[in-house]
Amino acid sequence: MNEQETSEAAHTQPRHYIGGQFSDTGTSFDVIHPADGSVVGCAPEADAATVDAAVQAARAALLGPWGQSSVEERCALLRAIADGIEARFDEFVAAEVADTGKPESLARSVDIPRSIETFRAYADLAWARSERAFTTPTPDGAGALNYTVHRPRGVVAIVAPWNLPLLLLSLKVAPALVTGNAIVAKPSELTPTSATMLAEVIHDCGLVEGAFNVVHGFGGGSAGAHLTSHPDIDAVAFTGDSGTGRAIMGAAAEQLTPVSFELGGKNPALVFADADFDAAVEGTVRSAFTNAGQICLCTERVYVERPIFDDFVAALADRAKNLSVGRPYDADTWMGPLASADHRSKVLGYYRLAEQEGAKIHAGGGVPVFGDERDSGFFVDPTVITGLSRDARTVREEIFGPICHVAPFDDEATAVELANESAFGLAASLWTSSLSRAHRVAPRLQNGIVWVNCWNLRDHRTPFGGLKASGIGREGGEYSLDFFSEPVNVCVKL
Ligand code: NAD
Repeated sequence: MNEQETSEAAHTQPRHYIGGQFSDTGTSFDVIHPADGSVVGCAPEADAATVDAAVQAARAALLGPWGQSSVEERCALLRAIADGIEARFDEFVAAEVADTGKPESLARSVDIPRSIETFRAYADLAWARSERAFTTPTPDGAGALNYTVHRPRGVVAIVAPWNLPLLLLSLKVAPALVTGNAIVAKPSELTPTSATMLAEVIHDCGLVEGAFNVVHGFGGGSAGAHLTSHPDIDAVAFTGDSGTGRAIMGAAAEQLTPVSFELGGKNPALVFADADFDAAVEGTVRSAFTNAGQICLCTERVYVERPIFDDFVAALADRAKNLSVGRPYDADTWMGPLASADHRSKVLGYYRLAEQEGAKIHAGGGVPVFGDERDSGFFVDPTVITGLSRDARTVREEIFGPICHVAPFDDEATAVELANESAFGLAASLWTSSLSRAHRVAPRLQNGIVWVNCWNLRDHRTPFGGLKASGIGREGGEYSLDFFSEPVNVCVKL
């Protein structure tokens, strides 16, 4: 690490936050900086008893004043949390960069501001939430009034991944808190720091003890499994791998616990010959390589109409070769490392598999050599490949790295067929200058989100989530408020 990183990384160390108290109970594990492999922190691993203490603290909070809190109080709390994160903006950026290795510019422009915005957005949404009421005729002619009140689910488990640690945690914590739930959150073992800092912010806002708890640890056989299989959990909100979703759903089935799942993707982009060529290339560079391809929404399959196929591949490969890959704090860095040594092994395994399956590599395909401390980090090249068959594993399985396969298509119907040929259904991008085509094709794509001439443009009020193996349920706006609350019908005889 350079000096700046060392000083900026000297922030909060990961600790559990249970019943309003910070602690480091349990054996500890190292937090590794992916840009050079150095140790930047040490987190405690929660065992079953520690997780149980957090769940009990949450249950107690619901039985106390938190259970009686008003929407107005909770909206004010969310605004205070947003202000609290904003007041420690640089510290949050440093924590996220230290744990993920992502470019500082990305943490500064996306991760942290978007998290702040999320808390403010859910304060607005909860405040504006409307209910329907019905007058119902009765035999005596007096009638009845029916209306709906929303109760919190109760104690909710929130399990988050490592790619956008605070941002994805906030997308669940904000709606869960504003609807009055008590939370036990578990961040990824790779990126535990910003969740602890969020707990500090929430603590300083004076939230009732136990209403928000954080436990650290791993997934299967550790804190994640202890939490999601706990008998006193009323709902599980999870973002992560589809396989992990299956394991959590199995555990949740024992208690019939409701689940909300945001899972993996193998997202297609369709580029038609009538598209703005440069915009489509730039959009695909962003959608394939942002955050080193480690966003569930990233494009891994690109289908290009044949007349522009060769030019598109050449332009995309040229941009990929020239992306600046490097240290998080270097001003010109566009792409950082992958999140961990294990994840790099997985991604490089797919780079080799692609070759074995007969891919032609147009850019990247390996590991950059820097000749300095970065060689101990977890970097890979931005990679563009072509030539694989429709059933190649590289084309079907989620890689979650900076690699995309580009294939040609000849007509609109085939393009839609190719895009839909996936076990996943999270997000698609459509590049065309034809309005008619955009409206014709978008609803035929089996994806929870379809972007036309853009990528990753998100409005908090819109539904977010995936079809098929990409998820269960929707987040975003009222969809999240609905998941974290139970509608109750009140019928008043007049
Ligand atoms: P992961 O499933 O390995 O881990 C996610 C979280 O689940 C971590 O906190 C982990 O400790 C925990 N976990 C792992 N096994 C568990 C178990 N058996 N029981 C309970 N908890 C367990 O995922 P990851 O590697 O952190 O993230 C990458 C994956 O997340 C990719 O598949 C990506 O597509 C997906 N993702 C999806 C979205 C979305 O919104 N759809 C967003 C980001 C990431």
